[in-house]
Amino acid sequence: MEYKRSSALFVEAQKVIPGGVNSPVRAFKGVGGTPIFIKEAKGAYLSDEDGNQFIDYINSWGPMILGHAYEPVVNAVIEKTKKGTSFGTPTALETEIAQLAVSMVPNIDMIRFVNSGTEACMSAIRLARGYTKRDKIVKFSGCYHGHSDSFLIAAGSGLSTFGVPNSPGVTQGTAKDTLLAQYNDADNVRDLFEANKDEIAAVIIEPVAGNMGCIPPKDGFLEALRQICTENKALLIFDEVMTGFRLAKGGAQEVFGIKADIVCFGKVIGGGLPVGAFAAREEIMSHLAPLGPVYQAGTLSGNPLAMAAGYEMLKALNNDLEIYTRLEEKTAYLEKGIKEVLKGKVPFTINRLGSMISVFFAENPVYDFETAKAADNPYFKTFFHSLLNHGVYIAPSSYETWFLTDALTYEDLDKTIEAIAKVEF
Ligand code: PMP
Repeated sequence: MEYKRSSALFVEAQKVIPGGVNSPVRAFKGVGGTPIFIKEAKGAYLSDEDGNQFIDYINSWGPMILGHAYEPVVNAVIEKTKKGTSFGTPTALETEIAQLAVSMVPNIDMIRFVNSGTEACMSAIRLARGYTKRDKIVKFSGCYHGHSDSFLIAAGSGLSTFGVPNSPGVTQGTAKDTLLAQYNDADNVRDLFEANKDEIAAVIIEPVAGNMGCIPPKDGFLEALRQICTENKALLIFDEVMTGFRLAKGGAQEVFGIKADIVCFGKVIGGGLPVGAFAAREEIMSHLAPLGPVYQAGTLSGNPLAMAAGYEMLKALNNDLEIYTRLEEKTAYLEKGIKEVLKGKVPFTINRLGSMISVFFAENPVYDFETAKAADNPYFKTFFHSLLNHGVYIAPSSYETWFLTDALTYEDLDKTIEAIAKVEF
């Protein structure tokens, strides 16, 4: 495949945009080479500026669960646009999408819409801190909750040491309130609570981690977190930016039967437009301005185009719950196919839950950030570039999850498996 025009566009982009991209992982830094510039997309396929076509397993990092340019969403946005793009006032549609979201997701009474997953998680911890009147939060190494300061904290040296910022610009003052735990290790969380008695406002977690590749929770892990939070009067925050409306209409809470205190959304909830949201029981949400003292706001929050896209997306999912069965079956088919063609060729482990799947080039089970790191190796780079050259687009990092879309056909899945069979490690 030729990437001439993408290469030229990347040269121009780098002159005026840092690294040529508006979000770092798009730059192919981990795998090398030139990012492909996408011109358009339809269904399960992307078309780049050079005229190449790719089966897409990134799907805008999750939102496009029904495929690209999904007509009901596109049409709703076009119709809305003709009537004005932003008013900064309440609109009827905001209540409609809120009612729909509340009816689909267990255990929430109220929802506030924002513009990204970052905003949703940032606001969720402010709300948790305001509600509990405590400062500290627990997050898990390898979980990503957006780029707000409190979350950009790397693993420190000891179990209960304070976090160390892993980006310049995040102050020590902020970092000291973020405590780090290992994913799938509830004892670790218990120890943090013991060492920080009555100081922890919330535990925030990706209930199925997707930002260190796909890592499902071990049996009993989420239950243990629920219990620890309840015992310590701390809130359990599920960051369902990836899992929300993807694993099931009610997200991970529904799949695992666990009640979170605050739930964060992004990606699917916006149908491909910039939307995030956070939601909780009324008792918690009533602490939010203008009802309560915890401030949170947004000029473009609840934007009519974004709400129109999100509403059509949620409606489509709610009206055809078979989508989730189909996605499960397609992803299981892909998993089986990949296992068959990679067997004996290279060490690998596949993690999957529903339509989230990752191929790790690691021999041992991958269940936390440490074990995920073993898969960041040359095998992955070879795999990525070979797939790209055979028309299959996966995320350019071993720390990302593949997201399947309902637009994929079994023929597409077979093509993908054939492309994987051709990889020469
Ligand atoms: N939480 C999770 C679990 C995410 O995966 C992401 C984005 N990948 C975010 C939060 C941040 O969302 P956004 O990029 O929309 O700010």
